Amino acid sequence: MNLNEIKELDQKYYMNTFGPRTPVCFTKGEGITLTDTEGLEYKDFFAGIAVNCLGYSHPRLVSELQEQVSQITHTSSVFYIENQARLAQMIAENCCCDRVFFASTGAEANEGAIKLAKKYFVEKGNPEKREFITLKNSFHGRTLATVAATGQEKYQKPYLPLLEKFTHVEVNDCDALKDAITPNTAAIMVEFIQGESGVLPLTQEFVDTISALCKENEILLIADEVQTGIGRTGKLFAHEWYNVEPDIITMAKGLGAGIPIGALAAKENVADAFKPGDHGTTFGGNPMSTRAGLVVLDELLNNGLMDHAKAMGDYFFEKLSNLAKSTDRIATVRGKGLMIGVVLNDEIAKEVGSKLRDNGFIAGVVGTKVLRLVPPFVLNETDIDEFVSALENVLNNL
Ligand SMILES: *Cc1c(COP(=O)(O)O)cnc(C)c1O
Repeated sequence: MNLNEIKELDQKYYMNTFGPRTPVCFTKGEGITLTDTEGLEYKDFFAGIAVNCLGYSHPRLVSELQEQVSQITHTSSVFYIENQARLAQMIAENCCCDRVFFASTGAEANEGAIKLAKKYFVEKGNPEKREFITLKNSFHGRTLATVAATGQEKYQKPYLPLLEKFTHVEVNDCDALKDAITPNTAAIMVEFIQGESGVLPLTQEFVDTISALCKENEILLIADEVQTGIGRTGKLFAHEWYNVEPDIITMAKGLGAGIPIGALAAKENVADAFKPGDHGTTFGGNPMSTRAGLVVLDELLNNGLMDHAKAMGDYFFEKLSNLAKSTDRIATVRGKGLMIGVVLNDEIAKEVGSKLRDNGFIAGVVGTKVLRLVPPFVLNETDIDEFVSALENVLNNL
């Protein structure tokens, strides 16, 4: 089908939740290069919103998934699943948590984390302790509990009243956080670098305050690492940059490199609160998605991909910072590793994104002023040079 035919079908039959989509349909990819229905090629700095960390047609992922499809894809977690047990081990051994539960999406992982935090205090005989603090402009997903957690009115408004009780505090405002805490606060849930609000990192001071308040008030710390996790920031999890240990970590986007999988990891004493029957899923952690997760983590941890991602992130950051010095179009460059926000001075992000696309580059656009760059980890310095010079051209010719 060509793009117009696809568009027509979509507009007639698909629920219109995504509004007018970006007018491109990709049909294949290799490395970081995508090809669309019209035969045009693009270098991808978006990776399906920070998902395709291995790029496209990654030879090992392709061959292992092909093998897995031909063996078995789904059985149900009623039965033991080798890949699931091995992936749980691999995650647990590489973070501060001890046990892992698999879901299929980021929202589902967060939903599980919220349930686990509630159940933890029920088990402790303190069921009143069931309030959550999250941050303004956060994003935690689109299910009802995670929409309540998400600190953005536009996502909540159509669904009021929401699940009780989520309080939203300004990012990096230590006093506001202190004021928001009550004896019934069960957990503080944060993204260490906010993704959907334009790659906004928490300050060390704010994280230290969160950490101290959690300890003083018996509050659980939930790290939503759905976007920042799995090597995206140059460490396996973004909270490692801050020297804190969350009680619960959620992850999803990069974990399956395009195969839907999410997970929550928790410290032993917290994970213990889930008793048999308390939580479940049909698809989560099936042999197929956990095989993808095993490939991703092995590439990251044992084949040097995370070090490569970090090196490319540093290189990219330096190049963009240099560009920022030579143009008054860029206000600042922020982020960590291969999660970079280019903050523009004017409300031109959409136009810049569209002109980049005309020049064969896919970048994310957040709001009106921020470009979000979350490329596949397999890119190289030449790809980065080409992107930066295309961006320079676009900015100079607006
Ligand atoms: C994308 C995202 C989610 C939601 O993940 P889904 O897979 O879309 O449900 C939750 N939290 C963060 C930080 C995200 O970036």
